[in-house]
Amino acid sequence: MDIEILKQAVMDSRDGITISDNCRDDNPLIFVNPAFERMTGYSLEESININCRYLQGDDREQPELEVVHHAIANGEYCLVVLRNYRKDGTMFWNELSISPIHDEAGAVSNFIGIQKDVTSRVILQQQLSDEIHSLEKTKSHLEQLSIKDGLTGVYNRRFFDSQFEIQYKIACRNSEALTLIMIDVDDFKSFNDIYGHQAGDEALIGVANGLSKSFQRGSDFVARYGGEEFVILSSGMTMDQSSVYVNSLCQRVRDLRIAHSSSRTGYLTISIGFSVHQFTPTNTSNLLLAQADKALYLAKERGRNQCVGF
Ligand code: GH3
Ligand code: MG
Ligand code: MG
Repeated sequence: MDIEILKQAVMDSRDGITISDNCRDDNPLIFVNPAFERMTGYSLEESININCRYLQGDDREQPELEVVHHAIANGEYCLVVLRNYRKDGTMFWNELSISPIHDEAGAVSNFIGIQKDVTSRVILQQQLSDEIHSLEKTKSHLEQLSIKDGLTGVYNRRFFDSQFEIQYKIACRNSEALTLIMIDVDDFKSFNDIYGHQAGDEALIGVANGLSKSFQRGSDFVARYGGEEFVILSSGMTMDQSSVYVNSLCQRVRDLRIAHSSSRTGYLTISIGFSVHQFTPTNTSNLLLAQADKALYLAKERGRNQCVGF
């Protein structure tokens, strides 16, 4: 090929092209093309005989510079995107590839650098990644909203319904015990009447927190089942263990010592009905729910502030 065409191609390229001399100390530039001059504001005369690191100014803490140093030291190709600075001090993102040029003996005599100003692309990518980050935050917030109760922060009824079916099936498959615990705050209507709705809300938050701290296993959880009703699903407990556990829940709420003047104890209390999955083929998750509900009714009937289980 005509050498003149080769020369003209380099001169007319829209990408910046540089050639450095690897045989001299510090690998100085020996050529830059007009596109490089336009991109950086530095002329050919200003650029040659010095190492091209002047384009980074004082901004030397760039991880991609290590990639460049490694490639030069090993006579290898690399492609990086660097923050570079024009002669007027303005920053631009430079997509730089360097390739070794070998002499007849196979030694690396020079490096050719091809440079593109990719500033608008990098800014767009940064904006996109910021937007993705903020969308992800919104998404996880929405996910929390759809499974958590707004007042108490424990799981909501919808989450309980979905988990109950799943955990019931797992318990059946693994022949593992499953305890369903229904909790209802005692005389809560009169609590609201005496202390006000706001105090009622705070009491519900306190009860929910107290119940949340009581779990035996990682898969156990508490959900707000209705107004002043909570439900706990706990696996792996026998009837006797369940009984000890639910009594400790009643004690836990009494220990909160939330004053309630029309309660027999003088403090806010809860009643609990629970049922333990028995592994009989006729059992269903609905039966477990109905049994716990019936047990709760009995606990109320027998005077509140107590636990009943089947
Ligand atoms: P029992 O011992 O039989 O359970 O009596 P109770 O008064 O607790 O039962 P009842 O079902 O008659 O009243 C429940 C009350 O709970 C009525 C309602 O105003 C109150 N409540 C339900 N949800 C909330 C809430 O989010 N905040 C407040 N402050 N009160 C609530
Ligand atoms: Mg109730
Ligand atoms: Mg109640």
